[in-house]
Amino acid sequence: MNNDPLISAEKQHVWHPFTQMQAWCAPDHEPIVLVEGQGSILWDSHGREYIDGNSSIWTNIHGHNHPAINAAIKSQLDKVAHVSFLGSTNAPAIELAQKLAGCFPSGSLARTFYSDDGSTAVEVAVKMAVQYWQLRGRPEKCRFVAFENAYHGDTTAAASLGGVDIFTSRFASIHFPVERAANLDAISSLTPDCLAAVIVEPLVQGAAGIRVWPPGMLRSLRGWCDANDLLLIFDEVLTGFGRSGRLFACEHESVLPDFLCLAKGLSGGYFFF
Ligand SMILES: *Cc1c(COP(=O)(O)O)cnc(C)c1O
Repeated sequence: MNNDPLISAEKQHVWHPFTQMQAWCAPDHEPIVLVEGQGSILWDSHGREYIDGNSSIWTNIHGHNHPAINAAIKSQLDKVAHVSFLGSTNAPAIELAQKLAGCFPSGSLARTFYSDDGSTAVEVAVKMAVQYWQLRGRPEKCRFVAFENAYHGDTTAAASLGGVDIFTSRFASIHFPVERAANLDAISSLTPDCLAAVIVEPLVQGAAGIRVWPPGMLRSLRGWCDANDLLLIFDEVLTGFGRSGRLFACEHESVLPDFLCLAKGLSGGYFFF
């Protein structure tokens, strides 16, 4: 039995993601309370040391407590913490968008739309793809193709695209219909008329257990999308910012998507991206 008031408040008031709360709240379960980090090391409230082996789920790519990031945040905080992007703009947002565009050949992926996190990045790409086809006079193109075992986040549209049952099956009744493909061969048998876009985690499906796609897959997929009038969405929420050895996983096959979804590494693990 744990009499720590913090643990007792935790067990009464906090709900954790993808966690069986009955087991979590059991009297003999002692949750790890993290209090400090430095580089790849985290410490808990008992002073025990942990290696943050998955970079706090693929987000913290520069290490905890990084002096340059800390200094930048502190300096910004002394000016203003948050302003709306609706009807105004600000230098950090402009500079970041310019830097991101600079990662790609000029004219491609030139514009950044800021959302909240990986799931909402996917939501935005989905909505933009639907809008694109409406404006092109093809409103019937509003369905999406996603792969088996894909993970694209937990908001409703993103979860509709996901193919890992444990994350999505309970909400199947409110998901929109998605054409699900096991691989490239299955994609090429689809009728493209009503399809807006294909979404894929390039190079590797992360949440599915680090499942690597065969080499050449992205290039072939790009070719099929171009030949059949479909947009291509790369979800690089996991792979982005160096995780695959290149800045972006799509660079391995020199293939560009129409939409690139970024989040985890973009936040350095400091923000809710
Ligand atoms: C984590 C992840 C997401 C969802 O990002 P959140 O920031 O958790 O909403 C989407 N796609 C992939 C490939 C991810 O790994």
